[in-house]
Amino acid sequence: MTAELRERSGWADEIVGEVVLTSDEIQEAVKKLGKKITEDYHDKNLLLVAILRGASVFLADLMREIHLPLEIDFISVSSYGHLTKSSGVVRIMKDLAAPVESKHVLVVEDVVDTGLTWAYLKQIIEARNPESVKICSLLDKPETRKVPVTVDYVGFTLENKFVVGYGLDWKDQYRNLPFIMVPKKHMK
Ligand code: 5GP
Repeated sequence: MTAELRERSGWADEIVGEVVLTSDEIQEAVKKLGKKITEDYHDKNLLLVAILRGASVFLADLMREIHLPLEIDFISVSSYGHLTKSSGVVRIMKDLAAPVESKHVLVVEDVVDTGLTWAYLKQIIEARNPESVKICSLLDKPETRKVPVTVDYVGFTLENKFVVGYGLDWKDQYRNLPFIMVPKKHMK
């Protein structure tokens, strides 16, 4: 990120680490995804399901780039640290507010990493008889997959780096960064 862009972001130099995606790059990708989704779902009953809390920022931008009537809902899942991550057990902390029958569900996610969350959610949503279930993830980290999953719409493919910003947190903070960065060492 150039000094000018950093200054424009309003964030202090000691916080801004290696910027992987600038705000402009993210907005451009979100526009493209919105356009494609608008084309693909133009004759369908679309329900966007955002995974809390990471996908909240992405959802807010993406839904305004989809030029169709649509509904939104939220689901919150948590895993129990490394043990459950490796076993693929994910717990629903907050379930959807409404049934998905007769809806074309598009899950909105910040990043697909091991694939365990998406594999689990796809299975439980499919069991509720929607018309279809797909996923749109801003980021995809295919190198770190533990289960093979298909990510239908991807903003950016990243190598195996831990990143924060634009909804992604570090210890519950930094979700409000408008860009995506690798946190500075002292944040760890
Ligand atoms: P997975 O695909 O491993 O089941 O889960 C994806 C979830 O792991 C994301 O929703 C996010 O909460 C977390 N995650 C994966 N990679 C990153 C990352 O680089 N940064 C942050 N902040 N969270 C990540």
